[in-house]
Amino acid sequence: MSAPDVAVIGGGVVGTAAAAHLAGQGARVTLYEREAIAAGASGRNSGVVQHPVDPALVGLYHATVEAYRALGSEIPQAGFVLAAEPAGLLLVSRRLDVVSLLCEQLRAAFPYLAPEVLQGEALLAAEPTLAPDLAACRLEAGFPIVPSAPTYALATLAERRGATIRQGRAALPAIESGVCVGVRVAGRTEPAGAVIVAGGPWTSEIIDPSGAWTPIRSVWGVVAETAMPNPPAHVLEEAEMDEALGAGHLAPSAIEAHEDPATTPRFSLMTAAGRSVAGSTFLESEPVLAPWVERILQRGASFVPALYDAPITEIRVCARPVARDGRPLIGAVPGIPGLFVCAGHGPWGISTGPGSARLVADLVLGRDVDIPEAFDPGRFSSPRPGGGAQASS
Ligand SMILES: Cc1cc2nc3c(=O)[nH]c(=O)nc-3n(C[C@H](O)[C@H](O)[C@H](O)COP(=O)(O)OP(=O)(O)OC[C@H]3O[C@@H](n4cnc5c(N)ncnc54)[C@H](O)[C@@H]3O)c2cc1C
Repeated sequence: MSAPDVAVIGGGVVGTAAAAHLAGQGARVTLYEREAIAAGASGRNSGVVQHPVDPALVGLYHATVEAYRALGSEIPQAGFVLAAEPAGLLLVSRRLDVVSLLCEQLRAAFPYLAPEVLQGEALLAAEPTLAPDLAACRLEAGFPIVPSAPTYALATLAERRGATIRQGRAALPAIESGVCVGVRVAGRTEPAGAVIVAGGPWTSEIIDPSGAWTPIRSVWGVVAETAMPNPPAHVLEEAEMDEALGAGHLAPSAIEAHEDPATTPRFSLMTAAGRSVAGSTFLESEPVLAPWVERILQRGASFVPALYDAPITEIRVCARPVARDGRPLIGAVPGIPGLFVCAGHGPWGISTGPGSARLVADLVLGRDVDIPEAFDPGRFSSPRPGGGAQASS
């Protein structure tokens, strides 16, 4: 067999989307996943395709929605079809001033999301599952999905287009004389014309095993999946959470910081296919689950009282790949010809990952592609070439 044109490291939503796009453009592609497709956050997230309310990320979001629509019509049998209309997103708070200010900011930045303030009877009529003392900013956004569905569907599409997917195979870039020449897998070098690292939170160490280059860190999320008999129709999120404020890029100065995420979860709840996923934590290290599940349900029940008695069907924990400035790294790795990166999408990877993957794939294909400077991997220090360190399989 001849060497692939492109090797992709990582079988999450980003890696599978890159493989599918490249294979669709006629490239020979091999994707290496050290565990199984969707083993990381791409299989364990909350399950919503969400508008990121960060102006820098909006283009990636729209490209992702477009990719999901094309995916649903190309292979509907793969089990992922995005709804025609969003469910609606309610950013909820006990403080009307916070909700009003947030709504004002969102109306100025994204009028097409039709932000409106709801409270009292009007809010309960729109969303009867909520506690009575809340206000909310409603946005025309939020597509609930089965969390792993897009990643499995993209992997199916990639294979159907001729890509090879090798699960249970850890890979690292093979660097010779400062140039990436392929991947190291189980002690062997497998040549490739270009390598894309889409390793989620493990991306920094895959590119620079010395540990000196760390633009992407892990932020751990716990979610509790429940079977609520009468779940909310909307996607619900706490108005004060950073993510509702575009990860800080849209934060109105008058909105005070949320309680410390090291001790308090941030409420979110979304329902797809009869499962309501309550979240979530934003923790710097892997947590002990039991106390966090209790806190998530308690906090959630203060917004949606019926949540506390809902049977838990699954508890999930995984790491978000968070870039130091909250925006993904998309493009060529500085100083290592042949090596590319697409990672660091934080809490928005399901909603923006496939749009990013397309950009990096087109760059690898030599297309004229305009990647915004905000995503330039070179904005952080350069990694030291990995020197062909051997990956375990
Ligand atoms: C609790 C939680 C809830 C979330 N909810 C949402 C949501 O509702 N909407 C949204 O848009 N986003 C959400 N996110 C964020 C989203 O899940 C992530 O941004 C996204 O899944 C990241 O995808 P990825 O492909 O970059 O990384 P990952 O999914 O982490 O995939 C990376 C893959 O690389 C593999 N890998 C690692 N090292 C190697 C190696 N050496 N060789 C081969 N393979 C390797 C891993 O096994 C893994 O499968 C949530 C995240 C969390 C934690």
